[in-house]
Parts: sequence; C-alpha cells; structure tokens
Amino acid sequence: MDNPISKLVPFIGGQFPSTFNKLLQSIKHYELNDGDELKVELWKAYEFGLKRHEGQKRLSGEPYFEAHCVEVAKILASWNMDVTTIISGMLHDTVEDTDTSLEDIKKEFGDNVAELVDGVSKLSGIHFTTRKAQQAGNFMKMLISVARDLRVIIIKFADRLHNMKTISHMSKIKQHRIAIETRDVYAPLAHRLGMASVKWMLDDFALKVLNPDAYKEIDKKLRSSNKEREKYINLITSALNDEFILNKINPRVYGRSKSHSSIYGKMIQREKSFEEINDIMAVRVVVNKIEDCYLALGILHQRFKPIQERFKDFIAMPKSNGYQSIHTTVFGLEGKIVEIQIRTEDMEKTAEIGVAAHWRYKEGDVSSKSIDSHVEWLRDLLDMLQSEENDPKEFMHLLKIDLFGDEIFVFTPTGDLIQLPANSTPIDFAYSVHTEVGENCLGAKINNKVSPLNTILKNGDNVEVITSTSQRPNYGWLEFAVTSKARNKIKSYLNKKEKEESIKIGEQLFVKSLRRLKMINQSEKLKNTYSKFGLGSVNQLFESIGKGEISVRDLLDKNIINEDNLRKDQDGGIFSFRKNESKSIKLQGIKNVMANFGKCCNPIPGDSMVGFVTRGRGMTVHRANCYNLPISSEETDRLVPVEWEVSRSDLFNVHLKVVGQDRKGLLKDMTETISKLNINITSVDIKVKDSVASARLIVQVSNIKQLDRVLKKVSEVKNIDNISRIQN
Ligand code: MN
Repeated sequence: MDNPISKLVPFIGGQFPSTFNKLLQSIKHYELNDGDELKVELWKAYEFGLKRHEGQKRLSGEPYFEAHCVEVAKILASWNMDVTTIISGMLHDTVEDTDTSLEDIKKEFGDNVAELVDGVSKLSGIHFTTRKAQQAGNFMKMLISVARDLRVIIIKFADRLHNMKTISHMSKIKQHRIAIETRDVYAPLAHRLGMASVKWMLDDFALKVLNPDAYKEIDKKLRSSNKEREKYINLITSALNDEFILNKINPRVYGRSKSHSSIYGKMIQREKSFEEINDIMAVRVVVNKIEDCYLALGILHQRFKPIQERFKDFIAMPKSNGYQSIHTTVFGLEGKIVEIQIRTEDMEKTAEIGVAAHWRYKEGDVSSKSIDSHVEWLRDLLDMLQSEENDPKEFMHLLKIDLFGDEIFVFTPTGDLIQLPANSTPIDFAYSVHTEVGENCLGAKINNKVSPLNTILKNGDNVEVITSTSQRPNYGWLEFAVTSKARNKIKSYLNKKEKEESIKIGEQLFVKSLRRLKMINQSEKLKNTYSKFGLGSVNQLFESIGKGEISVRDLLDKNIINEDNLRKDQDGGIFSFRKNESKSIKLQGIKNVMANFGKCCNPIPGDSMVGFVTRGRGMTVHRANCYNLPISSEETDRLVPVEWEVSRSDLFNVHLKVVGQDRKGLLKDMTETISKLNINITSVDIKVKDSVASARLIVQVSNIKQLDRVLKKVSEVKNIDNISRIQN
C-alpha cells in the first residue's frame, strides 16, 4: 500500500493515498495537473481533515474521515459544486466532532469555508421531533442559516444522503428517528429546492428503514417489470427512429421507473395495487438543444395521439425551482398510455440537483439573481418571522403550504407571471402584487370576468384586481387567503382594527350609559380616572370598556358617585339596550343586545361566533365560519365579536347528518342512543340508497359539550360511519 512518508509529503514523494486520488477523479469539472493550485488546496484540506479525525471510526469500523467526510465531498463533486463547497464538505464534521475550532478553519482555509462549516455544524445540532411547535422552532433556525448561504443546505443534503446510505450500522431507534426526519424534513425541502433525484433517494432510503417489507416487495416487482418496460421502450423508440434520424436528432430515450417511495405512497393513498400504479409507462427523451425538444415533440405527436389536457411546457414556463421539461401523455403502442418528458441534458442535470446547479463550476460565477429568485419564498418566510409575533403552530401551517403545495402561475394584466401556491385566490394575488393592492382589494376580474374574491385561481389565469380606497381587509378573507404574505398582512391589519373598534365601542358605551344616568356632565371627570385601573390613557380605558374588561359600572363603583341613581336603574336596565326574548348573547361584555340568530348556521353555546350589525334590526349572530358572513364590502365594518350569555335551560336546534350502512334497527339504535343522553330529537328524515342510509336529524342541545357527546355516542353505534353537524 501507500508508503507512509510519501503519504505525508506526497508532493515530494509523489504518491497520494488512493482515497484522495478517487476524490480527485470525481471532480470531473476541473482538469487537474500535478502542482496545480487547486490540487494543493484540496490536499491541504484532506491532510487537515485526516489528522483531525485521526483514530475516529464509523460504526461500521471504517476510518471516519475516509469513509464519511471524503464520501460527502465526492457527492458534492458529482454535483459539480465549487471547490469551496467541496472542501467545506470534506471538513464538515471537524468542528462538531474534533477539537478543531472555527478559528483554525478560518486561519487555514479562509472565511468562506469557515462560514459553511459553521453553518453545517449548527444544523447538525438541530433535531426534528414530532412535536409540531418544537419542530417549527427548529425549522426557523435552519431556514435562517439557509437564507444566509444555501450551500450549507446542499452540504447537509450530501451528508444526509451518505448517512442514509450507510444507516444500517446504527441502532434501530436511531435509524427510525433519522429516517422520519429525512422523510418529513429533508426530502420535502429537497423537492422545494428542485433537487428531484436527491428527494427520491432520500425518500427511498427512508422507506427502506421505516417499512422494509414494503420496500423489498416493491423492489422485487420493480426489477421484474423493468425488463418489460425496456422491451416496450425499445418498441416505441424504433417506431420513431426513422423520423428522428431524418431530423438529425439523436435522443437518448430511456424508461423511467417511479421511485420505490412514490409507488408506495400512491399505493397507500389511492388504495391501489402495485400493478395498477406501475401500469402507466414513463419515458424520458433527452436531446442536445432546446429546438430539438420541440422537434422531438412534433415527431411524437404525429405518431402517437396526445391527451390534450396533459401537455405542459415547463421549458417556456419553468417552475420556480428552475425545473424545465416538456411533459406530454400519449396513447402509445398496444393501447398503452405513455407519459413522456422531453428535455436537454442540461435541463436533466438541473432537474436532478435543482438549486445546486447554480453553483456548478462551468457556469462560472454564481448568478446571484437566479438564486435570489429561488430562495425568495424562504426570504418571505423569514420576513414574516422577524416582523410578526410568530405563533409556531401558525408558522408550521404556513410552511407546510409553502413547502408541499404545488404551485400555479397566473398573469397580471401587463402579462407578467406571478407564482402562487395552489389554491390561491385573487386576495393572494393582490397581496403578492403589492400590500396596498391587497388591502384595497374589492373584487377581481379573472379572464375578464368579474369573479368572487374566494375563487380558486388556475394555472394561466389572467387576473386583474379591482381596488377601492374605501375597501379594507376583513375576517372573511382569512377563510381563503393562502399565502403567508396575505395572511400575515390581513391579520396585522385586523388586530389594529380591532383595537380601534374597541375604543369606539367603549366610548359609545360610556357616553350612552352616562346619558341614561343623566350623569353626562360628569363624563370629563370620570374618564380621566383611568389611572385608577392602572391604565395609561383615556383611549386605553375606552378600549377596556369596549372589550368588556371594565364595565361602566366598575368605573362608577370606583368613583362612588350617585349611588341612588345607579340602584334605581338596575331594574330599568341601564346596561341593557333591549331584551331579546329567549337566548341572549354578549357583545364584548355588554349584555342583552337585541340579537337574531343566523338561520343558516344555528350557533350554539361554545361555538365561536361573530355578530353582524344589521341596519335597523339589531344584530344577527353567526358561527364564525358561516358561509353567509359578508366577505367583501364595506359591510365588514359591522362585524363584531360576540360571546354567549345563556341560562342553563336554553335549548338550541342543531342539524346533523348521519351516514351509515343500512341495517335492521339502525334508526331505533340511533334515536335511543340520543334519547338516553336526555336530548330531544325534533325531526328525523332517513333515506336509504344502495344500502347506504343517510339521515338528517335536528336535536336540541344547550351547549357544544352536549353536542360533542351526541356526536361521539352516535358515531359509536354499530354501522354508523359518519356523523357531522351541517348548516341546515
Ligand atoms: Mn457528517
């Protein structure tokens, strides 16, 4: 083997260790000569790492540096990463696992390498647990370092790939944790960064750990179906070959098998067999230049009939993660449906490694512009983290949408493309154009047709926002706004608004009450007693009154004036505006407001509710998620939060829908169950179709707890599949 002296000074002795030579060979994008500056640089890092990790072993017993660190560097080299990244990859565990300090790295290899190694070391301290709130917090840390330099994440992906590949030496418990983390965090992130091959490799490694039987089974079946696929691909290729040659394109055509994990995912999700999932042939056609893509497409479509709706041109309109390709689906030979992707070699590489492609050596300097656009969504999230009081749960939710959701592209009136997550609405569009456009968004024209604000936008829609300076955000918008930007802006507006509203209501209450008490002349004096409540201003006092934290009575009590007046008025109801006959509700601490109940949603005690102040008829109360609440007009100014104030005996009608498998005595069992809970049923309507029974009932309950008991008990009745509360 290697001569020990030449190993230490190979530039003199002339022999590098074989592991180092293999690393050099993997860096195909450089032409290396002996004495080359780059080779010197790499050797310096290799020697450094080798010394620092000396004596350390992997669980497999192999030497740590050669068997892991150099392997990570090799993966990075295979992605054509720049030298700084390759060296940082080779040294990524030095600070974490040896007594090397960041200063040492900086001194030897400069700021850039030190920063990347630091980033990776920080990431490795973060463990993702299944508790969501915690996970979100960790996500944040991770994303912040990502935003600083995405290469940190790319090194981490290489590290994770290699660790997953060699995971079998770890304890089962550790394997499980790492596999889950890989599946839930790293694979989705790789997807979002356009690293398709990294994503499926990670997913497959994770599946192998988490469900080894399924993996083996799929693996076996894939192997045997691969032969069949190859045969079929050859058939297709030869059918097209003459035309290809005639047009001087020489494509590389190959069958693309789905990954183990995606097949498994679909089997679970769609409850289908392997054969059903793997039935559709998938073919990739790789050509030299962009023109050839369209040429090949033309040839294909001439020979095989395409399915119109399945055609997508991601070359003309790349995905935001940089992905480019033409997708088409045709009726191929033997009546088989074939999915075809056409792309250039370059696009193929980009599709595999996504954002990493931007650091590719051959492309010279990193184009900061394109990278910026790719990490824009990360920056959006970071903005949000820094500006709002962040609720980790809410953050997680947003992140999920942004991470896993598919994306759509819509056009502005001037023809610009705007990228939005799937299920976005005109509100999201408006906010993504400009916050002000969002806040004044009154309506939208989609493809020149006036459409409701909650319309879900589709790919290619032409969207024009109609604004009005008098329009303002409202609670209803939160029901359908999807993007983090829109949701955050709406919420912060509403918070501000709610405060102003409380002040207004508080002041009105204060003045009205004093008028009735004929004490209005005392108002100046009274309202300036705010400090008695530990408050700092008149407005704060009004806000507290408006929110019901302090009542006008409290204010009078604190100032003990005119006791008599007060007592006299208690039965006359100075604090009540008008009485509602039966069930009463509280408007921000004010009792007995005249209120009607929305017939649409029938709120019951325990529901969260919103009051809608109608003109001249007092207030209508709805469940907070009722469809009938106004969503887009100046009317939303008249929405106010309300609370229940009920006596125990009040009963409320609730509409329920029950679905189950029909059987003898089903209705009897169901009604008996409800009666046993001492709850009245006022109406039953049951229909049976194809042995599925569906019943609509109206029951009378006094609060949400009782209702929950009904839902629980009825769902336990034999053959009942589903019971739910409905809006009439
Ligand atoms: Mn490592």
